[in-house]
Formats: sequence, structure tokens, C-alpha cells
Amino acid sequence: MIPVTCFQGQKVAVLGLGRSGLATARALTAGGATPVLWDDSPESRAKAEAEGFACTDLTRNGAFDDIAALIVSPGIPHLYPSPNRVIAAALLAGVPVDNDIGLFFQSFATKDWDGFDTLPRVIAITGSNGKSTTTALIHHILSVAGRPTQMAGNIGRGVLDIDPGIDGEVIVLELSSYQTDLARALTPDVAVFTNLSPDHLDRHGGMGGYFAAKRRLFAEGGPDRAVIGVDEVEGRYLANQLSEGAQDDRVIRISSGQKLESFGWAVFARKGFLSEWRKGRQVASIDLRAVSGLPGAHNHQNACAAYAATRSLGIGPKVIEQALHSFAGLPHRSQLVGEKDGVRFINDSKATNVDSAAKALQAFPRIRWIAGGLGKDGGISGLVPYLGSVSKAYLIGHSARDFALELGETPHEICETMEQAVARAAAEAEAGEVVLLAPAAASFDQYPNFEKRGEDFTAKVRAFLGS
Ligand code: ADP
Repeated sequence: MIPVTCFQGQKVAVLGLGRSGLATARALTAGGATPVLWDDSPESRAKAEAEGFACTDLTRNGAFDDIAALIVSPGIPHLYPSPNRVIAAALLAGVPVDNDIGLFFQSFATKDWDGFDTLPRVIAITGSNGKSTTTALIHHILSVAGRPTQMAGNIGRGVLDIDPGIDGEVIVLELSSYQTDLARALTPDVAVFTNLSPDHLDRHGGMGGYFAAKRRLFAEGGPDRAVIGVDEVEGRYLANQLSEGAQDDRVIRISSGQKLESFGWAVFARKGFLSEWRKGRQVASIDLRAVSGLPGAHNHQNACAAYAATRSLGIGPKVIEQALHSFAGLPHRSQLVGEKDGVRFINDSKATNVDSAAKALQAFPRIRWIAGGLGKDGGISGLVPYLGSVSKAYLIGHSARDFALELGETPHEICETMEQAVARAAAEAEAGEVVLLAPAAASFDQYPNFEKRGEDFTAKVRAFLGS
């Protein structure tokens, strides 16, 4: 645990008592503060009380009279579409509103560091897609290189749950836009921006607010090194703003598809090869086609981001190449579940939006596509350009019929359930094809979350494969 010592002797309100809220309460207590807890849900309050914490109604008048700060969980809206009433009251009372990420950056460095040879460092990763994969890959590369490392944030443990930093350690943090928007301190040593496409727009008041939330990771205190995906205009703008000119190597530009040979430092993937260029010269190249845990151009983008971030810490290209080969991939992201008679079964249940599903459809040449669930605004019209690789679609869930209307000439059938979809796709698939779950929709109509949906797909596939 990282004790939060900056509020010693003071009362600090904590709103939202899920995993990060409870971890915050423990870290505040360990640092000598008194947490004042609240959650609208009686079940969550009961869980906190069972751990010995007292809950106090933060919605009552005067609740913020003697409170030093309010710490908020990421799921709770602080601005748009409208602020939660407790946050609105704190803002009205002028009480600083922060989150566990802000507390982490304030608390991570301690007096013990005076005796270290190499100070602990923090790499933080944000972006619309690929955050978890990039974070896990960076952590894996560092482990293979023999560096002490911990992974936290949206993946793994909560930030305040990790162990205090040790000599030479690297902390790898995945940060969502909700987290970067609210954190009052954001001072990573290396910051990574993978890519940007519309998501969570209701929480950010539109695309500008969404981009602004992610940009904060690069503004507050300024990382020593910024790894920026420049495949969208927002990334190019950010890279431009952070560097004095094209030759400034504090920014490492990354791309999946573009040649970036004329910059101070760049890493890009083209035609299955990753290249590192520095000051107009190629310094390393890796064949990604043989890296089975990272299929598709989108994963090559993640490989470039992880390569750049770890190179900036001095890890050599050969060690990184070796680590790319031993990376197993994350569950529910382009995950190979099994293979039979030349047909591969891939679980990409995390493809909950059009952009990530589009990447999955581009990663394989001939696809039996299982899609559907709770569709998002705009449906799947954005996928029409990528349907060329789809032999047939098998549609499930609430939006199956809406999706069918957008598929035009592409063969499809309504299957309703995962069981039916896997059975039909498996029966019809031919050697060389991929049965791909990439729903382009949320899972909540049929499952509690995308993980359960992916597990159901995996179970049905394993039953079919007899494994
Ligand atoms: P995040 O943590 O940002 O949601 P994940 O690594 O969990 O990212 O991947 C989320 C989804 O997006 C998965 O379906 C995955 O296959 C897809 N994806 C992964 N990397 C990228 C990328 N660089 N660009 C677009 N889509 C990606």
C-alpha cells in the first residue's frame, strides 16, 4: 500500500466505495487522516462498514464543513452529463476534488528514496484503445529485462494498493480519461498516448472535452519523455505542441502504417515490421509477423508504443524483441482460444466500440464474425468499409436486428445467443477462416460485463473443440 500522508490529522471525504474507494480509505488511514465515506448504494456502504469504516451521509447540508478534500471514484460523473450531487456540493463549498491517481502522484516519493541508486519511475498510458494491452506489454518487457516493476491503475491493482517503490523500480499505470480528467497531480516520468477515437463523450461534454482530459497527462508537470501515437490529428497536434521541432527527441512519435523517418525519434510499424528511427537513421527493426500474441495492425501500434516507452528507459532492442515473442496477450483482446481443421477461434470481447471492432476485422483476412449486444450510438455504420473480410456475420443480443439492417449484402443470420452463434459459425467455417467474437457493442443486455461474455464464448468454443 502507498500511505497518503498529506492529510495527516485531517478529515477527507471519499465518494464511491468500490475497489479504488476502499483502497483510498485504507491509504488515508495509514497516512494519519480520517476518511469520511459515502456511497449511494447501501450494499457498498455495508461492505465498507464490514471492514470497520464508518459511513457518513455526504449529501446532507454542511457535510463539507470540516473536510480537507473529496476523493472520487472514476465511475462517478464530476462534470458531464451533470455532476453527482456530492461533488456539486464540494465544488460549491470550494473543497478540492481529487481521485486516487492524484493522491498516488503526491504520495509515491518518500524519504527512503534518498538512499536509492536509481529512483523509481512511473510510466503512464492513456488513449482510446490499446491501453491495457500496451500497459501489460510494457510490464512484461520490463520483467523480461529483469527490472523490478509493478502494474496498476485500470489494470491489475488500484494505484494505492501497490507496494512502495524500490530501488530502480518502474511502475506502469493504465489511466482512463475519467482518471486523467480529475487527478490534481499527474507527474509520470514517461507518458504514452496510444490513439484517439470517440468514446465516453457524454462524460466529457463531447470530443474536445475527451481529448482535453487525456492531454492533461502531458501538461501537468510535463513528463521527461512523451510517446505519442500520431495516426490521428489529435496525436499529431499533441506531439507538435510538446516538441520544439521535428528533431526534438523528448517526443517519440509512433505509428501503425506511416513512415516516420524524419523525426528526432520515431517508432513505426509497416507491412509487419517495426522500425526505430533516430535523427534520420534506422537503429533497429523487428519482424512482428512472427509475434503471435500481437496480431493485427492495431496490436503493432501497441508494440510500437511499448517498444518506445521501454527504449526510453534504456532497454535494448534485442531484449524487447525477445519479450514481444513471449507476450501471451491479454484475455478478451484478440485472444486465440483454439484451432481445429485450419479454423482459428479468436476472442475479442473487449471490442465494445466500432473503432476496436474495425481493427479486429482488419486483422484477419476471412472472418466468421460474431457481433451484437447492446449497440452504441451510431450503430455499426462505421464498420461498413471493413466488411470485405467477413464471410458471414452471426448476430446476437439486443441490437442483432439493427446490426443486420446495416450489413447490406454481407451474408448474416440472427442467432440471438452465444451458444447458437458459436455453433452456427463453427459448423460453417472453412479451413483458413477465423471465427471472431468482436461484438462492436456493450455486453450488458446479456452479461454483467465483457469478461463474462468472452468467457461464455470461450466455454462454447472449448465445448465444440472438445478441449
Ligand atoms: P483499452 O484498455 O484502451 O480498452 P485494450 O488493450 O483493452 O485497450 O483493447 C481494447 C479493444 O481494442 C480490444 O478489442 C482490442 O483488440 C482493441 N485494440 C487493442 N489495441 C488497439 C489499438 N491500438 N487500436 C485500436 N484498437 C485496439
